Amino acid sequence: MSRAPLVDGHGRRIADLRVSVTDRCNFRCQYCMPAEGMPWLEREEILCFEEIERLVRLLVGMGVEDVRLTGGEPLVRRDFPLLAAMLADIDGLHDLSLTTNGYLLERDAAALAAAGIDRLNVSIDSLQRDRFFQMTRRDALPQVLRGLEAAVAEPRLGQVKVNAVALRGFTEEEAIPFAEFARERGVQVRFIEFMPLDGDCAWTSDQVLPGEELRAIINAVHPLEELPREPSATARVFRFVEPVPGGGKGTGEVGFIDPVTEPFCSDCNRIRLTSDGLLRTCLFSLHETDLRGPMRAGADDDELEQIVRDAVWRKELKHRVGQAGFRQPARGMSAIGG
Ligand code: SAM
Ligand code: SF4
Repeated sequence: MSRAPLVDGHGRRIADLRVSVTDRCNFRCQYCMPAEGMPWLEREEILCFEEIERLVRLLVGMGVEDVRLTGGEPLVRRDFPLLAAMLADIDGLHDLSLTTNGYLLERDAAALAAAGIDRLNVSIDSLQRDRFFQMTRRDALPQVLRGLEAAVAEPRLGQVKVNAVALRGFTEEEAIPFAEFARERGVQVRFIEFMPLDGDCAWTSDQVLPGEELRAIINAVHPLEELPREPSATARVFRFVEPVPGGGKGTGEVGFIDPVTEPFCSDCNRIRLTSDGLLRTCLFSLHETDLRGPMRAGADDDELEQIVRDAVWRKELKHRVGQAGFRQPARGMSAIGG
């Protein structure tokens, strides 16, 4: 059913939804979760597949076109490809994508493609095994790289992207290896600035490695040329000017997602649904809107639509990271759904 477009109080039309399908994860990345002591949601607090499907269908009817499934680690949710298939079936949904740490991707790549996932991003912070372990607290690089290969080899999945969180004092020496990895494998590697959404609440601005610095490091060795950008795109994407010596696909790219040093809030068309059914209108929202409670109390779609509209109308104009008075949200990235 088609409903009026979903628009916020600043005139931005909402077209992109991130859905967290679980708060659980098989990794413990330094910038995301504490090493231990993470409080998990109870099973009955988590939306079931039918509830997720109902809310996504409603939001697609209000003009959401792109849905990204995330977490926590989506692939640890049992029967996740089944959920993907239910969502892929929704009329009006243009693009269904997934963000994963890749650990279970060797097992799941074919099932995800068959379910109708259009694109996926794999998070990899280092191409060196010991440094990957340092960042994720799991010795899992070989398994993740096998998962990435399985996804790249899957013809039904579009271009596979790699996400690396950029941290001062760590990622500088990853820049060239990642650029060469992108060139040789024909993938897009994107560096994401570290945001104050870590489970330890230990973020400081001097740990942020600006995308501009990484770009300069890469450009000095492998000259880059910027590609045109959609207004609502989060990444600035660059291709390599020089061809790859000795062949290779030569289609690799590097991208920079710079929410701290170059915020893109004015064009933000995104909302988020947490795994326990709360609507978030900004990554840094201090307020969440409960959809699960009304849904389980019997609200019909028109009532849910009104709750969503009221929440979206109050979508934050911009985040205030780095400014006086900024408050980190109580939940970290793994619970919000990055
Ligand atoms: N577990 C999946 C994964 O790691 O790809 C999906 C969820 S994870 C929260 C989504 C993305 O958020 C990952 O690319 C991760 O690197 C990124 N991320 C997590 N914490 C972050 C932070 N504090 N700042 C910037 N990016 C972060
Ligand atoms: Fe897990 Fe992803 Fe967070 Fe790492 S970034 S701890 S893989 S949810």
